[in-house]
Amino acid sequence: SLKAGIVGLPNVGKSTLFNAVVENGKAQAANFPFCTIEPNVGTVAVPDPRLQVLSDLSKSQKMVPASVEFVDIAGLVKGASQGEGLGNKFLSHIREVDSILQVVRCFEDNDIIHVNGRVEPKSDIDVINLELIFSDLDQIEKRLDKLKKSKAKDSQTKAKEEAERSALEKIQQVLMDGKPARSVNLSDPEKDAIKHLCLLTMKPVIYVANVAESEVADPEKNPFVQEVTKLASNLQSGVVTVSAQVEAELTELPSEDRVEYLKSLGVSESGLGNLIRATYSLLGLRTYFTSGEKETKAWTILSALAEDLRSEGSRRFCWRSEGHAASGGGVRESAVSGGGVREAATSGGVRKAAASGGGVWEAAFGGVRKVTARKVTASNRGVREAALNDGMTAPQAAGVIHSDFEKGFIRAETVAYDDFVAAGSLAAAREKGLLRSEGKEYVVQEGDVMLFRFNV
Ligand code: GDP
Repeated sequence: SLKAGIVGLPNVGKSTLFNAVVENGKAQAANFPFCTIEPNVGTVAVPDPRLQVLSDLSKSQKMVPASVEFVDIAGLVKGASQGEGLGNKFLSHIREVDSILQVVRCFEDNDIIHVNGRVEPKSDIDVINLELIFSDLDQIEKRLDKLKKSKAKDSQTKAKEEAERSALEKIQQVLMDGKPARSVNLSDPEKDAIKHLCLLTMKPVIYVANVAESEVADPEKNPFVQEVTKLASNLQSGVVTVSAQVEAELTELPSEDRVEYLKSLGVSESGLGNLIRATYSLLGLRTYFTSGEKETKAWTILSALAEDLRSEGSRRFCWRSEGHAASGGGVRESAVSGGGVREAATSGGVRKAAASGGGVWEAAFGGVRKVTARKVTASNRGVREAALNDGMTAPQAAGVIHSDFEKGFIRAETVAYDDFVAAGSLAAAREKGLLRSEGKEYVVQEGDVMLFRFNV
């Protein structure tokens, strides 16, 4: 599954949050038939109410949600890019994740020392960004040197190298201004050319504002949260507020006491669900379902936007982007808003990612909050509407289940989630003509329920 790396300065609440995520994952493991947990990796289910609905309709024996992996990347400190201490190792861990969750301390507590002596989100964010920027600059410089010495003769290689050089020079400029690589507008060939570098500041970022217990009901009142929100918007990033302390305490309570505890804090649900959904959404992921008596399962596929992010973000996925058209323009912009716009538009308002008021990013999906808005406004910049019809095709989506499904793909019986629910079953959907037979070119949409026909 996809990896989100948790980073932050010491004493901001990273381990507290990570442990809560892991405990939450363990609790879910009782209900779901998977959950691999390594010391610093926790796999968590993506909460999705559609799964239960489909499972009930199909009378499935089990339910398998989509998942996201959280990786605890402790120890990123000032000087990491200079190889101070264990710094370099942490940077290489960051290189391997698909997105970055930076925990920013927004709670005050005199008993807990802040490395800078006081709570100051801007400096926390700057410190980490600078380390990532330095590391990218270093890499770019070396790469540009190499390109200068290149003796490539054939025109194709030369064109590729030219695209890479121009992309890197643009990025270098922006990095020197203290901005991330993801804020640069690159052409498709330029994007392709730099994919192999997996630059750190190209990865999507969510700032996790860690607030005090007393503030979970109304975190936007906290001036530190307001500050993080403003900064995040300038850095093409999202914000989620959470109280690591509250989440840690929740995991220790028996489930029957949790609701009561949340109520006493003035909220109705744990903040983790929101964080997990935001992460999934940030990565530009889509879900399709298979649903039958044996099981109802959510499968994760990539939208074209996600492919952009993925291939630039992580080596593991570089191969995936081969042969797919990359969508043009501001990668990060579409990550925050385009993904949401696309989902909202394609699935009848199931999902929304919006930068609200001060720019706090809310992501709700899976029918949690039905939204009809097609346009999402982000503060400080216009929002580009992403193309709706790109992403994985039916055979590629089938390949997520098994490579044989992709190789032997014949067609996919497909019904939209809402149509399936309205009809009540696959058979009823077929009778009503809502079940479509889709071929090789079909681009799988958010919430599609699919049955693949293939040769073995
Ligand atoms: P890390 O160094 O970033 O991993 O930070 P930790 O998770 O170890 O947290 C450092 C200290 O801050 C611990 O004593 C936590 O109990 C405390 N802490 C974490 N989150 C909160 C919070 O939301 N409110 C308060 N008051 N304390 C917190």
